[in-house]
Amino acid sequence: MAEAGRGPRVAVVGAGAAGLMAAIHAARGGHCGEVVALDSARTLGAKILVSGGGRCNVTYHAVDESAFAGSTRPAIRKVLRRFDVERTVQFFAAEGVALEREETGKLFPVTDRARTVLDALLRSAREAGVATWHPWRVETIERARGTFRLRSATGEGLEADRVVLAAGGCSLPKTGSDGHGHVLARSLGHSVTPRVFPALVPLTLPRDHPLCALSGLAAPVRLEVRAGPGASLARIEGSLLCTHFGLSGPAVLDISRYWIDARLDDPGASLVVSWLPALAPATLDAALRGLGAGTPAGLLEQWLPSRLARALCTIAGVDAGQRGHRLTRPDRTALVRTVLDMPLPVTGNRGFGHAEVTAGGVPLAEVRLDTMESRVCPGLYICGEVCDVDGRIGGFNFQWAWASGYVAGVSVAAPAGEPGG
Ligand SMILES: Cc1cc2nc3c(=O)[nH]c(=O)nc-3n(C[C@H](O)[C@H](O)[C@H](O)COP(=O)(O)OP(=O)(O)OC[C@H]3O[C@@H](n4cnc5c(N)ncnc54)[C@H](O)[C@@H]3O)c2cc1C
Repeated sequence: MAEAGRGPRVAVVGAGAAGLMAAIHAARGGHCGEVVALDSARTLGAKILVSGGGRCNVTYHAVDESAFAGSTRPAIRKVLRRFDVERTVQFFAAEGVALEREETGKLFPVTDRARTVLDALLRSAREAGVATWHPWRVETIERARGTFRLRSATGEGLEADRVVLAAGGCSLPKTGSDGHGHVLARSLGHSVTPRVFPALVPLTLPRDHPLCALSGLAAPVRLEVRAGPGASLARIEGSLLCTHFGLSGPAVLDISRYWIDARLDDPGASLVVSWLPALAPATLDAALRGLGAGTPAGLLEQWLPSRLARALCTIAGVDAGQRGHRLTRPDRTALVRTVLDMPLPVTGNRGFGHAEVTAGGVPLAEVRLDTMESRVCPGLYICGEVCDVDGRIGGFNFQWAWASGYVAGVSVAAPAGEPGG
């Protein structure tokens, strides 16, 4: 399938956030010849369009490696530093997308429409001269005599001198990211972490759990993952949302990868919630002791929504309307534990179909971090979610995609031997 007389060419596999960023910067760099972005999806950018509830949370006001998991923090920092939040803001401003910071620290386009972000990236790619072919699912990539041979699911072929692998992970597979990026990476000599699992994913409870009956209720909480013997493995404060299947909301999504990871090692690991993180157990116990004719539900309703206060009494096995002076010590102990240290009987997670991101992927140790070029397959560059990097909710995952895509793009465009950018 050698194409006689063709000029140099870069193939970017995946035209999502990271792939478009890489393609734009590769084409702008101008040393790498033709840049072709291939994507299996019929409609490009579906994940960008659904992101941030349709508003696209482009980044966070302050991003550093501490918000990420997977590969080592120094490795993640090295890439993030090359294209920081300020550069992200400048890049999008230059493409006509002004970003606005919310009180939460998240940055969204001022239009509040993810479409603005996607349109700008596609326009920028077009203007830089990127050819975008889709649907074109890359089924296989072979490396032979310094050339990459890509074959599509329908049997078409494409040769390229360099390849940028930006095929994403496994989250929301209906958008096109179905884990085939990992298969392609492996076929070119890379490893993929032994564990690949959903992250930023809602968690399930038994259907008859009282919290499922509170669907729609949100509360600020502290969540903690504990190892079987009790050691704290991860802690997050934020909003928890009760749903008909169990638990969602930012704090639950953020802690989900730590809970899933812990349970894979230790079936005794638990997820514990404090519904009143600022309250000490002794203070709550004293308040219950001093209730007199008041009720536990009445006390808890001072701080918590009434429906939640009553459900917590039910979970503690205490009558919500019981007079305070009738509460026994075991009643008080059960209430204090349920309100401040309640183990959540999580049955599982909602899977990749509901996960915002993928934990696991190609280890950054297999990539040169100044260029994102593979250490095992020269000429291959790897960026975005296909890497073993997953971030907190709030714009961190896109920032990883922009930064790693940028580094791959400028590097693939640089004359041989120069890192670019
Ligand atoms: C519902 C939802 C909301 C989110 N909201 C936010 C948010 O607001 N802020 C934030 O920071 N992050 C958010 N994320 C996470 C963020 O979208 C991802 O981290 C980011 O899109 C990853 O970019 P990527 O380019 O690496 O991968 P992807 O966006 O997954 O893109 C990969 C592309 O590769 C293509 N592809 C896959 N396999 C092949 C193949 N074999 N051949 C050709 N093409 C292929 C896919 O079709 C896809 O277009 C959200 C995710 C979801 C699911």
